[in-house]
Order: sequence, then structure tokens, then C-alpha cells
Amino acid sequence: MKRQALDVFASELAPEVRQAIIAGTTRVIEKRQTTLAEDYSDSDALRRLAGQVRQHALDHLDRYLPLAERRLQDNGVQVHFAHSTGRALEIITGLVRASGTRVVTKSKSMASEELDLARRLGDIGVEALETDLGEFVIQLDDDHPSHIVAPIIHKTRGDVADSFARHGLGDYDDDPEVITRRARRHMRKKFLEAKVTITGANFISAESGRVAIVTNEGNARFGLAGADVHIVLAGIEKVVARDRDLPLLLSLLIRSATGQRISSYVEFVSGPRSAGQPSGPREMHVVFLDSNRSKIVGGEMREILRCIRCGACMNTCPVYRQSSGHAYRGVYPGPVGTVLGPLLKGDENFAELSDLARASTLCGACGDVCPVNIPLPDLIARVRARSHRESTVRGKTGVPPMWGYSLLAGHPVLWRLAMRLGRALDWLPLRRLPLSAARAWSGSRTLPKWRGGRFRRWIRSRRRDQDV
Ligand code: SF4
Repeated sequence: MKRQALDVFASELAPEVRQAIIAGTTRVIEKRQTTLAEDYSDSDALRRLAGQVRQHALDHLDRYLPLAERRLQDNGVQVHFAHSTGRALEIITGLVRASGTRVVTKSKSMASEELDLARRLGDIGVEALETDLGEFVIQLDDDHPSHIVAPIIHKTRGDVADSFARHGLGDYDDDPEVITRRARRHMRKKFLEAKVTITGANFISAESGRVAIVTNEGNARFGLAGADVHIVLAGIEKVVARDRDLPLLLSLLIRSATGQRISSYVEFVSGPRSAGQPSGPREMHVVFLDSNRSKIVGGEMREILRCIRCGACMNTCPVYRQSSGHAYRGVYPGPVGTVLGPLLKGDENFAELSDLARASTLCGACGDVCPVNIPLPDLIARVRARSHRESTVRGKTGVPPMWGYSLLAGHPVLWRLAMRLGRALDWLPLRRLPLSAARAWSGSRTLPKWRGGRFRRWIRSRRRDQDV
């Protein structure tokens, strides 16, 4: 993946890719709005409630995580804790090796993207087949997902048909039915061969140890039917307090993610196959991934862990829509990735991705659609503030114009003088100035007419009017 500034990446994006992203995100935004408006009289109240439910579980994770562990164990599940992505990889590769399988089926899971799991299993000679259709295409192309719900939102039907033809899955045909039939034929053999299946978890109930898994293609269920071993990889924040929290969260997740009322498949997995059950894995493992989450949960941006990975914030974000998920240089794109990405990297690597926060317009659209009411614009502003603090400590100066502003705002006499002199900007031929920054800035923008100083005059005139 190219590593370059988000605005540079956006400016180099092919028009057809941008068009595919705008069309795909617009479709989902419209469906989401329609279903929420038709089904609920006050969906904002539900978003607030869902936010409280998620925050409650996170604020008491010290209680609910051990409770979830006990319930899972009572159900016959083996529970593992991984403090880092490296440790999670060790655990999972150990389990896969012990099973003796050469093929693993895999459902879509953002935590597994954090581990780059499919590639890492490939490194030890195990074929890890992505069974979500979008992820399968990404795997064929050795690409990376550019959206957390629709990983191939940046590709057209023709791109997918091309990939299938290149990889020997039939002659070029961009009929979606033909594409899905070919994918199904290819995957069925692997489902029968694989002894291990790996899924994520949308939620894990601390009350019952139930694991909720949402898919639209039934691929997780297929994987579970054929495998001997089921491995669930889940961030520790996926724990919710009670079973009765699930209907609310699932209703909002599915409507926000795809605009559907219910996903085609919602699995509630309670443990390995019990005596008398005709199919299902004999062994089930849950690997809880920490990877800096336990630091985030008590930190100033803890609300970000409420995220239920619906993708609505990126669908509505004007920056994402113009730049694509790849521009964010991490597993999580869009507004959620702007906050979560640098935090998951840990304190020592925070700066590496925190510059993304400067590419936000802070328009507030992401906060308005988030189904768990995460104050995303506030969090993005906090990432900016922390990034600025840390760059100042490291000796970098931060954003230069703010120094000037701070000087003027702290000295009323200088301020008044600057307001008077500012009028000269109306006459300055910025475009012809030798300063390259001024030329570049004014090359694509027109400076508004100077309005400085009017507020004070307006306040004075109001006072005069009131005195009269
Ligand atoms: S931050 Fe909110 S809107 Fe964005 S993916 Fe997460 S839950 Fe969805």
C-alpha cells in the first residue's frame, strides 16, 4: 500500500475509483436513512441508548470480561488472552498447527486484519481462504480492504470479473450472478477440506457467553458446519453486559451498515458441538485481543471503543468519499480510523498516524450517524490536540499560524492594530507573491473580503442603542 499524505493520495485517485466509492456510499446512506425513519420515531434516542449500553460495558470491563470468560468456559469454550497482535498470532498459528489442517476458512473480521492473519497463515504453509466475497476478491488481488463493511467498494464489477478471469475462475463475465456462482463453486471444496474455521465476533455476551456473528452471505455458518475447530478472534471491547442488549445493538448495526432491516445471517454461537448435535466444531476457542485497548478504555478517547464497525461514519465523511479507505494507511479508515488507528499503534507510535486528524473538515456528519453515539468530531479534535502537544514536546512547532493568532489574541493593542492593517489583504496580489505557500493557497481559493474589527464596532453600537 502506498504511504503518502491523505490529500496527495486523494488528488491522485482515478476518477472511476472515486465514482465507485461515491456511488457505493451514497446508496447505503440513503437506505440507512429510509429504514431508520420508517422503523423508529426517534432513532437519535436509540443511538443515545445504544451509546450508553456500550459505554456501560466498557466502563465495567474489569467485571464483564472475567464474567464473559467464565461463561464461555462453562459452555466448553477455551479462552485465550493476547496482549498484542504478535501474541494473538502465536496462539492462532499454534491452534491451526495442532489441528494438522492445510486449509482454514475465514470470515470477515477487522481484528484479523490487525494481525494480517491470512497472509501470516500463508507464511506457515496454511491456505487461509477468505470466504466473504469482497474479502475473497481482495485476497485474489493481494489488495487491502478499503472499507470495513464493503472491502471492495473501490472496485467495479468489471474489476472483479477481471480478477476472476486472471485467477482461472472462468472467462471474463461481469454478471454478478455468474461471479457469485463461480466464487461459491470455488469455496465449497475448501469448506469441505478445512478442519479449522476462524471468525470474528460482533458481540460477546458476558451474561451467557453467547457469541453473535453477523454475515450477509452465510459464509460463517458454512465454515462452522464443516470444521472441527472454531477459533473466534475478538477485541476485548466486544463484550456486552447482557443478552437483552443484543437486539438493540444488532438493529442499529445492520441498519447503519447496509440499510437492511436484518442481515441475512445472524449466528448466536454458544459453544462447541454438544452430544447429539449432527454437525458443528468439536472444539471452540475465543482469543481476546488487547493490543492497547486496555489503555484506551481508561483514556481521554475511550468512547471510540464503543464502535460496532458499521462503517456509517466513513460512508458519510466527505474526506473518505473523496480519498478512499486506502488513503488512511491503516486497517480502519474514515473517521473511526482517524481516532482508533493511532491509538491502537500505542503511545510510542501515536504520531505515525495522528496526522490523519488534520485531514478532517470537522463537519460533524460522522457524529450524527454513529449508531452508538460516539462523539467522533470531538475525538478527532482531541487527536489533533494530542498530536500538537506531542510534536511541540518533540521540538516540532505544530501549526505556525496559531502562534501568530495566540500572540495577537493575548495583546488587545496588537489585535486592534492587526484588524486595521488587515484590510490591506484585500489589495494584496497573493497569486503573484514570490512566497510559494501563499501562491499555492490562493491558486485554488479566493480570499474572502476582510471583515476584521466589525464585531467590536457592532457591540459598541448595540450598547449605544440600549443606552438610548
Ligand atoms: S465509529 Fe460509529 S459510525 Fe463509525 S464505524 Fe464505528 S459505530 Fe459505525
